[in-house]
Amino acid sequence: MNCHICQSSCECISRDQLSDHGFVYDLYRCHICGFESKLNSESIEDIYKFVYDENSFINKRLGKFKKGSNPERKYLKAIMDQYANRGIKLLEIGPGSGATLSYAKEKNIVTASLDVSEKNNLYYENECDVDYVFNDINDIQNNFYDAVVMTHVIEHVTNPSEMIAAITKKIKSGGDIIISTPNSNAIFKHIFGVKWWPYLIDDHVSFFNLQHIEKLLMANGFSTINKYTYGSNMIHSLNSYLKRNKKKPSRLKPKEAPQDSSESPEHLKSLRKMIMSITDVLMAPCAWMGMGYEIVYIGKKNEFDS
Ligand SMILES: [Zn+2]
Repeated sequence: MNCHICQSSCECISRDQLSDHGFVYDLYRCHICGFESKLNSESIEDIYKFVYDENSFINKRLGKFKKGSNPERKYLKAIMDQYANRGIKLLEIGPGSGATLSYAKEKNIVTASLDVSEKNNLYYENECDVDYVFNDINDIQNNFYDAVVMTHVIEHVTNPSEMIAAITKKIKSGGDIIISTPNSNAIFKHIFGVKWWPYLIDDHVSFFNLQHIEKLLMANGFSTINKYTYGSNMIHSLNSYLKRNKKKPSRLKPKEAPQDSSESPEHLKSLRKMIMSITDVLMAPCAWMGMGYEIVYIGKKNEFDS
């Protein structure tokens, strides 16, 4: 297996691991740049089909940024605010809840989405009022979009370099790309090793640090505007480590989507929020050193690479 970032050879660092629902995989790491990827014993398409039951998927939808959003949403809001009322055309890849697109619409941004799920696409069209809904990248016009947003998508892609090359074509010269993904240099990755939670998500297959993302984007003709890591996700990391250590994964259907957290008691919500804020402040030096739990990368497509 060759590295998708630097094309050097990768070595297997862990064999026969089990993901959340019991899919078997080997973990590979590039011996030069450290990019990591999974080699699953089943195809990613089969894993998707199993994990993303169309009905459970749609139940998770929120459609709007929640009040008191976490930092993950704050930076997206700030970017959409900058784009407001400027005739910007925005394409989001894998829009999930559709919250970014809904917010962009409120800011008079022309919106487009790309997703493989027909059910999601109906949702984006009808509930998020998206202007152009695509399920095939080949139907999207080249050199057309001022900005592409891709949050928590690239870790689900088996060939990220091919994907970024295809998306680059859709962006105008001088246009922006905004990417977020879990950070494989996160402090809790170093603590929990192969039991780090993003590895265990069935359809996570590619694991990046900040340098990997930047190198990939620069190779596709982007200049870096901003890049950072943030947060620690300490509670989630610990919680999922303890839970997953207790029980063996089994090939059961993913359980029904969790209820909207707005239904949990108010005092629990504020307690959780308080603990998260405290741990994020305590862990801030880690984020500053590129060891936060999430990567945010913002790049601009170079003028001469149209
Ligand atoms: Zn490499």
